[in-house]
Amino acid sequence: MSFLDENSGRSESVQNGDAPGLNAAFSLSRDVYRQRAVTAFDPGRMEAEQVSTKRRTCGNSDCSGGWAMPWRNRRRPVFEGHWGCSGRCVLAVVRAALRREQGNQKAAPASERHRHRVPLGLVMLAQGWITHPQLQTALAQQRASGTGRIGDWLVSECGLEAEQVTRGLSVQWGCPVLTMEGFSPRDMALVMPGVFVEEFAVLPLRIAGSRLIYLAWEDRVQASVAFAVERMSGLKAESGLLDSAQLKAARTRLLECDAVPTTVETLGDEDSLAARITAVLEQQQPVQSRLVRLHQYCWLRIWMESGTKGKAGDVPTSSEDMRDYIFTIGPGT
Ligand SMILES: [Zn+2]
Repeated sequence: MSFLDENSGRSESVQNGDAPGLNAAFSLSRDVYRQRAVTAFDPGRMEAEQVSTKRRTCGNSDCSGGWAMPWRNRRRPVFEGHWGCSGRCVLAVVRAALRREQGNQKAAPASERHRHRVPLGLVMLAQGWITHPQLQTALAQQRASGTGRIGDWLVSECGLEAEQVTRGLSVQWGCPVLTMEGFSPRDMALVMPGVFVEEFAVLPLRIAGSRLIYLAWEDRVQASVAFAVERMSGLKAESGLLDSAQLKAARTRLLECDAVPTTVETLGDEDSLAARITAVLEQQQPVQSRLVRLHQYCWLRIWMESGTKGKAGDVPTSSEDMRDYIFTIGPGT
């Protein structure tokens, strides 16, 4: 029932927004997000990818060999549904994926920039949840100390409840306030590397049915991160806010659970990155693998056996026979 509650909660908070221009800003940002989500979401994608590999046509469009070559006993590695007939062809497919991800990377921050957020204090004022003097007190404290979020100052200086601030953030971002109901740290630890959970302050909260994954944020929804989770999991991501204390406690529990074994590496440039990914694929021989970029990271996820595919989307049910690689480009460590 929480799913219905969250949806009705959201439409209510959007429709009841009294401040002029608020609704327009929300629907714009939701539409941008929806459009991107729809193109990313494709249930049953992994099945489709695996079927196409049975034909074993080389995924490299410039390949002259294909399966007529003596390599036809070679069934792996499979990268994003493409079988490569040789290391050279795998490299070509990997390079194309890296170019695509660079394009996504350029598109994502632009769409995030275009979201004009009404400041939280004004949102709460418009909702009638705080008074002018309260807002002025909180702003003055924030200015004087030069630090802290306005929501925290409203709690400490004006006696607001933390959940009222979370509710204000949910109106600001046009997304629901989530609950901890159905949170399984053990299952959610397999959704994405713990490094990302910490770095992007996001919590995979629960999978609803076989199509949706709820992502919880503390005070800022990052659409580009949600988009990456969506493409890696094959599930449609629904973002919401969670009370900061609850989120931190849940994150600690999640980080204590078994995650997919993760290797973090730094490469010198894009060419070495493509070569390294190809070497990993050739060495590990996955039945499926996929690449997404999140900000400065390239995340490569590898499914070593077909049994590793989970019940919902492509989220694994255990860390066994799974590998995550996180690559960055830089001067090295
Ligand atoms: Zn080939």
